[in-house]
Amino acid sequence: MADLDKIASGCLHCPKAFCSLACPLHNPISEALSLYSKGEKAKAAELIYQYNPFPELTGALCERFCAKNCVKHRLGEPIAFSPFESEIAQYPDIRAKNEPTGKRIAVIGAGPAGLAYAYKLLLLGDEVTVYDAYPSVGGAIYAYIPGFRFDMGILDHVQKRLERLGCHFKLGHRVEEEPAGFDKVVYATGAYEANLAGFKLNERIQLGLDLLYGLKHGGLTLPLAGHYFVYGGGNVALDCLRSLARLGLDVTLVYRRSELEMPGDKEQLMLAEQEGAKTRFLTVIDKAEANILVLKQCELGPVGSDGRRAFKVLDGSEEKVPFDKLYLCLGERGKTLPGRTYIGDAVLGSSNVPSAIYSALSLD
Ligand code: SF4
Repeated sequence: MADLDKIASGCLHCPKAFCSLACPLHNPISEALSLYSKGEKAKAAELIYQYNPFPELTGALCERFCAKNCVKHRLGEPIAFSPFESEIAQYPDIRAKNEPTGKRIAVIGAGPAGLAYAYKLLLLGDEVTVYDAYPSVGGAIYAYIPGFRFDMGILDHVQKRLERLGCHFKLGHRVEEEPAGFDKVVYATGAYEANLAGFKLNERIQLGLDLLYGLKHGGLTLPLAGHYFVYGGGNVALDCLRSLARLGLDVTLVYRRSELEMPGDKEQLMLAEQEGAKTRFLTVIDKAEANILVLKQCELGPVGSDGRRAFKVLDGSEEKVPFDKLYLCLGERGKTLPGRTYIGDAVLGSSNVPSAIYSALSLD
């Protein structure tokens, strides 16, 4: 880990730490890197666990908001804290559990938010049962993230850590009615209502999430011939793109803004391109007609109230291209019912692992 030691020593310890401000968990990155560079790695771990119970998850999956906001970005050498989180996760969280409170809590959903909430309550001394319809913990991580991007053994490690704190799991158990006998039930049911952007799903037009699940768990096979398109710019789109490119398929990503504005992980995009994927930035899919996609060019406008640059579709820029499959990766919304308490993507919409964890830790 000599490289990490060198990177940690290169932290400028800015008085205003933009990295921590940008991190959804507000990890105290400067302080942790200071401890790490002095060889006090267990202490760095102790500090980080107070902000983030699952550095093994964020270390592997976070989009590295810290690095994007590091002042060393201008020098071309931003510090990403994620490799340190993965390293720190080798050290145990030594916080002791409080005395039992006698309170019994049910958490519905074993994704990052549900697990983080369970972890917090277990430390407080509550008795916690986590339910999930999937046979594993992880939620969307288990269901969709391809094995080439995430080591599923990490989920076993996370589950064992919770079990050591006394967590009960009911996995492979779909909750149809609110479980009885608990003082509180909290829902971490994720975001699964896909944005179809006016498209109708059929044989040719399908959801990117269904592709990822089918390839990972459903034994899905795809014909080698044909033109595959992925529509979107987030990590689901990039996972689809890489999955198809790695199968040797002719696949093109279509995204309405430029590469710079793309929310997905740039490293994954670079790998997808190395694996043979093509890209069409500043392009929208206006409509699909039988086996033809109608594409239109866009140009970027000023930054909008959401902090992102607007885009404008250019008149007269229509282009028709043949397609065999189009996978929509345009985001998902959560579904909530009144009177219930929700955390994570169920309320945030499809977000990211640290934001889901933070939403759980913020709930009393
Ligand atoms: S959770 Fe993400 S943004 Fe926060 S320190 Fe880790 S890699 Fe950086």
